[in-house]
Amino acid sequence: MKNLFKLLLLIITGSILSLACSSDDNSTSSDDGPVGELHAAFAEFDVDYTDIYLDGTNVVIETDGVPNHTTPYYSSTHPLYVAPTVTSEAQMTPTRIDTSGRDFEASLTVSSSPQMASSTTATQLGSIGIAVSGAFIFNDQEGAGPLDGAAGSLDYVGAHIGPSVYHYHLEPLAFSNDDENLIGIISDGFFIYGRKCNSTNSYPTDLDASGGHTSITQHAGEAEYHYHVINEVYGSLGRYLLFAGPYQGTPNAIN
Ligand SMILES: [Zn+2]
Ligand SMILES: [Zn+2]
Repeated sequence: MKNLFKLLLLIITGSILSLACSSDDNSTSSDDGPVGELHAAFAEFDVDYTDIYLDGTNVVIETDGVPNHTTPYYSSTHPLYVAPTVTSEAQMTPTRIDTSGRDFEASLTVSSSPQMASSTTATQLGSIGIAVSGAFIFNDQEGAGPLDGAAGSLDYVGAHIGPSVYHYHLEPLAFSNDDENLIGIISDGFFIYGRKCNSTNSYPTDLDASGGHTSITQHAGEAEYHYHVINEVYGSLGRYLLFAGPYQGTPNAIN
């Protein structure tokens, strides 16, 4: 008992000392630890698939890189498998998410207060954003051509998997369907919402070339810049493209 008491005393003394040390460190270093609060929109991301935290004045979004909803791109024994509906086994790309043997984990670091850049940047092939579901956002191109050629392989959500990752090209019907729901975050740090805007409960009419504008949202009482899903039917699918760019901010790597 006496030894236990001594041990506790040592632990407490140690903690006080290390507290004293770390507060000294904090006074000389500004790039460690969180600054401010996470934006309320990040609460929409699935915590079972993503890990989001502040790092100084940045936000780090880590994702497992796989969708939290059903898709025929899981193998038939996976709990989130559903049989193809708008596509077919014959039209689907051959990869299945859970049996591919690939590691889909990725990370994106953005400013916690992203700014408009002085000039816009065209989007590129590959991941351009991370959705609330854990999977990735791609633009309107497929293999450097328009999406039409690959449209038949898109699942009911508006996504498929190629040589890389499972990704959305269209309004992702598993979690947004003609509404104001949060879709995810684009790599320049701006959020992207469904076709409607919370500020008017309707389709915004003041969008720029990127499908963005500055207004309040369900996550921000003060007006801030954000994108919307493009409210124009694309191709013969009768569906809506997610994001074609250009970035209005400065894009960051997703890897
Ligand atoms: Zn694709
Ligand atoms: Zn809006």
